[in-house]
Amino acid sequence: MGAEAVEGVGAWEDLLLVHSEIFLRAAKRAGERPLLAVAVANAALGKRQAVFYVGGTMMAGPHAARGGHFFNAVVYIARKLGAAVVSIDGHFPRGTWEAHMEYKFPLYLIYGGADGPPQRYIHRRGHKAVAIPMPPGAGDRSFWLAISHVLKAEGPLAIHLGFDIHREDPTGHFFAGEYLFYKLGEALRGRQFYISIECTSTPKVFASALGSLLAGVAGRGAEPAPGEESGEALREVRRVVSSVFKK
Ligand SMILES: [Zn+2]
Repeated sequence: MGAEAVEGVGAWEDLLLVHSEIFLRAAKRAGERPLLAVAVANAALGKRQAVFYVGGTMMAGPHAARGGHFFNAVVYIARKLGAAVVSIDGHFPRGTWEAHMEYKFPLYLIYGGADGPPQRYIHRRGHKAVAIPMPPGAGDRSFWLAISHVLKAEGPLAIHLGFDIHREDPTGHFFAGEYLFYKLGEALRGRQFYISIECTSTPKVFASALGSLLAGVAGRGAEPAPGEESGEALREVRRVVSSVFKK
């Protein structure tokens, strides 16, 4: 997996695979930015594995562009490929959730429990969506437990990934680190996947988390050791995961 600069722009009509005409009118006020994001998504689709950053995608729903997110590239890729969507971020992906309600693609949500709706709401309203709210203090082992279960989903994966779950992120809610990002990369090594980086965190966290992810994908370097985390958080995540994935 090499680095690549994408040139050119996509077409406004491409947005209609995910977004409505109302959304388009709002998105056009952002100038060419949404079209640059479409071009990146189209370039990613030409590959078997891709990691990209287009300024955030998860808050863009079918009708509402919020948080400066003017194109949901992850939902776009999922709809093009018939892929499942996985979201791993401190935030709840409101736009993607709204798109799930409309398009019913398989959806796996790992998010800060304080930010999103309760798990039972998602399980009741969604179309077999899986919700794993993470308690404050969750770290490498907790996140890996949740993610390793979610990655049992078959086929290509369209993924929102936020580095705000890193222990050095200024929000300070979560304690994931190099271990988690390496393990995620390692688990994705042979698979078809498309990762949109969402919350970038600080430049230092961004470089470290992305480096660990890519090292895991490439099988480069030794597996980092998991960091310290709250035993209480880990027990809570074990309980949630076993309730969600019970046979
Ligand atoms: Zn976030």
